[in-house]
Amino acid sequence: MIWFTEYQTPNTGLTVKVKEAKTVKSKYQEILILDTYEYGKMLVLDGAVQTTERDEFIYHEMLAHPALIKHPNPERVLVIGGGDGGTIREVLKHPSVKEAHLCEIDEEVIKISKEYLPTISCELNNPKVQVFVEDGNKFLDERKSYYDVILLDLSDPVGPAEALFKREFYTKVKNALRENGIMAAQTESPFLQELYFKTAVNEIKQVFKYFGTYLAFIPTYPAGMWSFTLASDDVDILKYEESEFDKIKDLKTKYFCDKIYTSLFSIPKFVSDLIK
Ligand code: SAM
Repeated sequence: MIWFTEYQTPNTGLTVKVKEAKTVKSKYQEILILDTYEYGKMLVLDGAVQTTERDEFIYHEMLAHPALIKHPNPERVLVIGGGDGGTIREVLKHPSVKEAHLCEIDEEVIKISKEYLPTISCELNNPKVQVFVEDGNKFLDERKSYYDVILLDLSDPVGPAEALFKREFYTKVKNALRENGIMAAQTESPFLQELYFKTAVNEIKQVFKYFGTYLAFIPTYPAGMWSFTLASDDVDILKYEESEFDKIKDLKTKYFCDKIYTSLFSIPKFVSDLIK
């Protein structure tokens, strides 16, 4: 019998029973594909769970839809990281989107996801999608005032993603957005990764005029409590327009819905205290 444990802190972890395992060592990280009893196929990078077939919809819907709903007409979207393809799949549910770019540093993550996670990577070959195998930090050096929405679907701020949680990088994101542009970033667990969370949100606040942090319940992520942050220089993130709710009616989702959107920024007091 095989069991896998992700050590989420030095003192606690998530343990799952595994049917089969495959490991690949890429230029950037150790990639594991586990076939688990409870969560289906699971993608693990350098020991950290990235996504699972059973609960991936929560993370991908919650990263993509709030930003795409809030933007008045998102046509050009960039996902940085996200080589499994789940965020791109959600982006393409918005009919206004004409171009969806994916910038993933590790080609092996894309290859493995296409082979083992077809329900997640299913839209990566869509003609609206262009895939760039590059470091997101360098990629943005050449992109100015181009995107309507940029989604940061990154692994933890250690290893290849470390620099992409700093204000110099968020400034590049801001410069790559055109008028009314919105960024959405995964900003870690405010419960078990308090410092990562506080640091990421505080860096974002230094760069953008408007911001709003929200949470989702994701069973396989540390503490099951995960955060995301929207930011913009032009769109007042905390204000709602009636037209935003019209767009939600036509979306096919399993977690994200109008009730979640209405109360998106109602977060627990201890979480808002961390980012005051
Ligand atoms: N849902 C995930 C989470 O929060 O754990 C994120 C999943 S996604 C697989 C993260 C991806 O970011 C990985 O495939 C990793 O290779 C990619 N990545 C890390 N650093 C990057 C960088 N500098 N540029 C582009 N992609 C990067």
